[in-house]
Amino acid sequence: MAENFDLVVIGGGPGGYVAAIRAAQLGMKTALVEREHLGGICLNWGCIPTKALLASADIYEKMNHAAAFGLSVQGASFDLGKIVERSRGVSKQLSTGVGFLLKKNKVTVFDATAKLVKGIDAPKVIAIAKDGKQTEIIAKNVILATGARARTIPQAGLEPDGNLIWTYKEALVPNTMPKRLLVIGSGAIGIEFASFFKALGAEVTVVEALDRVMPVEDKEISDFAAKQFKKRGMNILTSANVKGLKKTANEVTATIEIGGKAQEITADRVILAVGIVGNVENLGLEELGVKIDRTHIVTDGMGTTNVKGLHAIGDVAGAPWLAHKASHEGISCVEKIAGKHAHPIDPRKVPGCTYATPQVASVGLTEAKAKELGYEIRVGRFPFVGNGKAIALGEPEGLVKTVFDAKTGELLGAHMVGAEVTEMIQGYVVAMGLETTEVQLMDTIFPHPTLSEMMHESVLDAYGRAVHI
Ligand code: NAD
Repeated sequence: MAENFDLVVIGGGPGGYVAAIRAAQLGMKTALVEREHLGGICLNWGCIPTKALLASADIYEKMNHAAAFGLSVQGASFDLGKIVERSRGVSKQLSTGVGFLLKKNKVTVFDATAKLVKGIDAPKVIAIAKDGKQTEIIAKNVILATGARARTIPQAGLEPDGNLIWTYKEALVPNTMPKRLLVIGSGAIGIEFASFFKALGAEVTVVEALDRVMPVEDKEISDFAAKQFKKRGMNILTSANVKGLKKTANEVTATIEIGGKAQEITADRVILAVGIVGNVENLGLEELGVKIDRTHIVTDGMGTTNVKGLHAIGDVAGAPWLAHKASHEGISCVEKIAGKHAHPIDPRKVPGCTYATPQVASVGLTEAKAKELGYEIRVGRFPFVGNGKAIALGEPEGLVKTVFDAKTGELLGAHMVGAEVTEMIQGYVVAMGLETTEVQLMDTIFPHPTLSEMMHESVLDAYGRAVHI
């Protein structure tokens, strides 16, 4: 027996569940098919549980530095099992919450794996439950939001084994506290786990193939962050390629090529964080002739694919692979289906945040990219050490950098490293969204004492008017 809906969403991550709720709000009879857990990777195996782990690590580090605040903590210690238990609890609470939200919005959830076959208005969805029961779902529109998973490189032995070589999944529920940890890849995933295990006392080495850590960030910011990571005792190897991994019963030896020379590093555990690939397999996409570029479904930026009635959003639709981009894309896609005003995502205005110690946050063009695009620029900088709140918090290490179009005063990019910058970046995102110029930013009153005052000072600095440096 077939069930009829206006829209079927496949995948219950931050792209899929947000799209389903928006569709229901717009009066569509909506179904959502999810094979594992609501909230997807973000809530269950990504953004959220890592933040919970990092929160524990942060308190532990602060306890170890209590004396600097006139406090004394004796015998600070941790229980990795309990830290992980808390992190899993946070994920569970939020995943359950997503279930309630879907129910409240009358979205029908199928606890099943979806496959697509040819249909009339759109592909037909076959939802296959764990007990094998199949339901045929017919709708005018189908949104694929199946997400992505860790990239592996089997030819170089970069393949997780669930024991010694981890992806983010195993790293979130570690079977042991590694004494020596090797992290391959210095993107957001690698650096966040490196920060977590370093804070708990592991000897951490990060290997990055490109010439600097977090290579997508502005060079000055990634150099600043690298200095801080090294100061915290992390071993950072850049322009370094892992050529192979050799395992024994309890450890892994990596052969790393740096400047044409091979070097070996032995660790108890390895975390692979070398990017992600879209979940495009076993869905029936080939049979339907869906256009795929490497592992991502090709769309028009509003979720439309080359197959009638089929849309794709979030990680499976390509970069940037961020939860907030997925949610936004989901809403745009649904509003377009509903015939409402919808706008494509401007990748320049998608902020990025990395929750390492120190945190990194950015939006827009880096200084190098702005120059490459031919802009004549003005650059402002403000160091945390010039900010009263940063000093009071004991967080004097950081930098706020702004890049302006010298001709028009348009804010082209903002790049920050230091405490709480992931909470502050939104100020610049709003400013960019409103096409603010330097004048409006300089005329804005920032509350004192806050870290956000540095955002003001950085703008002032770009125009030679900073007060506190
Ligand atoms: P990434 O692509 O951001 O970083 C992977 C890094 O690994 C790159 O810098 C690459 O140069 C390096 N690398 C690749 N092969 C290598 C090799 N053989 N040896 C050494 N280095 C190698 O990928 P990621 O960190 O796995 O994250 C995946 C995606 O998820 C990213 O787009 C990221 O932005 C997103 N994400 C975001 C957050 C966040 O916003 N906080 C958190 C997690 C993931």
